[in-house]
Amino acid sequence: MKNSNVEEGLRVNRRRFTLAALAGSAAFASSLMGETSSAHASPKPVSSVLDWNLDSKTIIDLSHVQEHEMPVDPALTLPTMSFFAHIGQGEGAYWNLENITYTPHTGTHMDAPFHVNSGWGSIETLNPALLFGPATVLSITVPKGMYAISLADIKAWEEKNGQIPLGDAVLVHTGHDRYWPDKKTYIDDGYPIFSKDAAEYIASRKARYVGMETISPDGPNTDAHQIFMGNNVLVVENLANIGEIGKKRCLTIGTFPNIKGATGVYVRLLAVVDK
Ligand SMILES: [Zn+2]
Repeated sequence: MKNSNVEEGLRVNRRRFTLAALAGSAAFASSLMGETSSAHASPKPVSSVLDWNLDSKTIIDLSHVQEHEMPVDPALTLPTMSFFAHIGQGEGAYWNLENITYTPHTGTHMDAPFHVNSGWGSIETLNPALLFGPATVLSITVPKGMYAISLADIKAWEEKNGQIPLGDAVLVHTGHDRYWPDKKTYIDDGYPIFSKDAAEYIASRKARYVGMETISPDGPNTDAHQIFMGNNVLVVENLANIGEIGKKRCLTIGTFPNIKGATGVYVRLLAVVDK
């Protein structure tokens, strides 16, 4: 794997994020970049910079609620929340305060490359804008149980819908999210994963990230994780509602906390769809 390329490619440029490369949409990105590159330009209202009329858009939440009871791999710890202060209980108790613990690979989350290779980047090295930009919605019909989505499955979709645009995120819709939160049907009875050639093809389209409705793109190994993240394709797992997008392409918006050294992080991902 190209460790140094991964490190370079994923490293955050703190002065200016490369939205043009990320977002794929040159006009969209250049309007943003233009704002930041001209120190003397008077600020435009956000609506004109983005040319968005949100009344004409539907916003779809692609994230599950993160809570204590979720279907997770038995090796993982479920999140906990414990309150150590309650308003009105004790002197000077003006606040409700809790501690939250969680393994990032539960719930709707993104993996860092460090999750599958100790030499690769952890969460804080990732571009915070990578979830922001165009996405292709790849709808694949899969049999129930463990099934590796193949290159032929993707090519069959492309035959009908056109090639996945370079630089798009890829949201893979199989309908598997309908089994959430039942662990037996969501995990134990099997779920769609990715064959190596399917993962390699998505990586060859320079996808910013691949989003799926399952706990993992892999079964008992890390092959697809390695292919994706070895090629700068981030992995977002346990997504919901991709089927409600109802279009072949949309915009996604999301970002994530900047947690130093973490192997993953909860994300809140939204799809923005023309009505
Ligand atoms: Zn994960």
